[in-house]
Amino acid sequence: PKFAELDLRDPILRAVKESGYEDMTPIQSQAIPKVLGGQDLIAVAQTGTGKTAAFSLPIIQMLLKGEGQRDHRTARSLILAPTRELAVQIAENIKAYTTHLHLRTTMVYGGASSKPQIKAMLPGVDILIATPGRLLDLVNQKHINLGQVEYLVLDEADRMLDMGFIRDIEKIIRYLPQKRQNLLFSATMPKAVEKLANNICDRPARIEV
Ligand code: AMP
Repeated sequence: PKFAELDLRDPILRAVKESGYEDMTPIQSQAIPKVLGGQDLIAVAQTGTGKTAAFSLPIIQMLLKGEGQRDHRTARSLILAPTRELAVQIAENIKAYTTHLHLRTTMVYGGASSKPQIKAMLPGVDILIATPGRLLDLVNQKHINLGQVEYLVLDEADRMLDMGFIRDIEKIIRYLPQKRQNLLFSATMPKAVEKLANNICDRPARIEV
C-alpha cells in the first residue's frame, strides 16, 4: 500500500515522498490508521522495519490540530528512547517529516550539558524526544512540565528495561495526564515489557511484524 492512500495532510505526504518513501512497510500500513483512529498500540517490531515513521507520521498529523497551542516548558508529545543515538535518529526522521510544517521538536538526553536543553524547552515544544534519566532530572527540577502531553511513545521498550530505566519510566508516567494516547514499540516482548505495556496502554491494538 502507498502512503498517498492514507488520510495524511499534503505537507506530510510531500515530505514523505521527498524522503524517498513510496510504499508503506507492513508496520506502517498496520499502525498508522490505528494511531490516527486514536487507539493505543503495542507493536513488536525491530529496527529497520520503518517503526519510526509508523509512530511519527500519525502523531505529526494529530498535532496539527492544536498547532501553536503551547505553554512554557511543556511538550504536547513525548517520545522516550533508550539512548542518545536513537533519540538523534528519531529527531532526524521527524525533522524530515515536518520540513513543510511549523512544529517545534527538541531533544533531552544525558551525557551533554543540560543548559541548552532547558533553554530549548522554554517556549514549549510539540515533540520532545528524550532519554528517561535526563528527562526525569529536568522534570524534577521543574524545567519541563509533562502535564500537557497528549501522545506518549516508548521506543525500544525492551532495551529501556534492559538498561534499568523501569523506575524512571514509572515516575515519568506519573507526571503525565491520565487522558493521553500511548504507543509502545519493542523488538521483543518478554514478561516485564508486556507488564509495562499493559500498565501504560488502554485497550491497545496489537501488531507484530
Ligand atoms: P526505522 O525502522 O524506523 O529505523 O527505519 C529504517 C530505515 O527505513 C530508515 O532509514 C527510514 O528512513 C527508512 N524507511 C522507513 N519507512 C520507509 C518506507 N516506507 N520506504 C522506504 N524507506 C523507509
